[in-house]
Amino acid sequence: MSKKRVLITGAAGFLGSHLCDRFIKENFFVIGMDNLITGDLRNIEHLFGNENFVFYHHDVSKFVHVPGQLDYILHFASPASPIDYLKIPIQTLKVGSLGTHNLLGLAKSKNAIILVASTSEVYGDPLVHPQTEEYWGNVNPVGPRGVYDEAKRFQEAITMAYHTFHKVETRIVRIFNTYGPRMRLNDGRVLPAFIGQALRGEDLTAFGDGSQTRSFCYVDDLIDGIFRLLMSDYVYPVNIGNPNEITINEFAQEILKLTGSNKKIIYKPLPTDDPKQRQPDISLAKKILGWQPKISREEGLKLTYDYFKKLPKERWTEEPHGRKFN
Ligand code: UDP
Repeated sequence: MSKKRVLITGAAGFLGSHLCDRFIKENFFVIGMDNLITGDLRNIEHLFGNENFVFYHHDVSKFVHVPGQLDYILHFASPASPIDYLKIPIQTLKVGSLGTHNLLGLAKSKNAIILVASTSEVYGDPLVHPQTEEYWGNVNPVGPRGVYDEAKRFQEAITMAYHTFHKVETRIVRIFNTYGPRMRLNDGRVLPAFIGQALRGEDLTAFGDGSQTRSFCYVDDLIDGIFRLLMSDYVYPVNIGNPNEITINEFAQEILKLTGSNKKIIYKPLPTDDPKQRQPDISLAKKILGWQPKISREEGLKLTYDYFKKLPKERWTEEPHGRKFN
């Protein structure tokens, strides 16, 4: 029997590259696509030369064509850090809206099952805690995060519309904070920021008073949840994340301890609309997917730190690679 063929957008990114690895391991033929604005080919270099992998350098906000049969599409192309939204707001809006539209059209024409990457950001600065899928959110549409949050909310809406109107087989995953190897050290997110600072012997920068909370999921757990969701028949949004919640101050302490750094935590202004708390309610994922995270933060952070420590030292200090913001 011929291999199932899957298109993964954002293939050179953090999550996209781990998805490519997982689908190769599951014996799929993987078509990776990325415009490399925030993605990094070094994340998938090991797959070039694999006969079950091809890569297309393409921006999915423009018409997408993939020759041949497609069984699955996973839409993971998007900037995903608050710093990126500030630098490339229009591209962020376009990839979540126009890009999603193009990929839904492709799914319809190929009769493929499509899973789109949504986010806990659809809940905004949440007034319900922990966040269940029924919660509609508290989003500022015109704030700096609005370009991401609203693009993702539109993405969910158009995905449901393609499901109900065109009968496309769709899945929506709401991804909570995830970490692991291949994050960009300079993307501004809290984990690479803290680990990069520790590696360079700098103080750790907590924003605000550090009392805001997040719940961090190790990447392998997240990828497994996504794989299960894709293979299920559930069309409504599903939270995937780790409910183990901590404050940013506690997180900084853990990083100092893990890295053996003798530096301190310093405080910087809190970014606009930075959510005060975030924790996924994963009852639904447990029930319908039989999924829950397995990797503790202690274990996951160690794996992540080992990865960054082993990178050539020049990567600890490099500027965002060859990015053009226009
Ligand atoms: N944060 C921080 N120091 C940093 C980077 C981020 O204290 O150097 C905080 C940020 O204000 C937020 C949390 O860490 O409250 C998580 O930020 P991140 O950008 O990783 O993801 P978010 O969950 O906000 O999208």
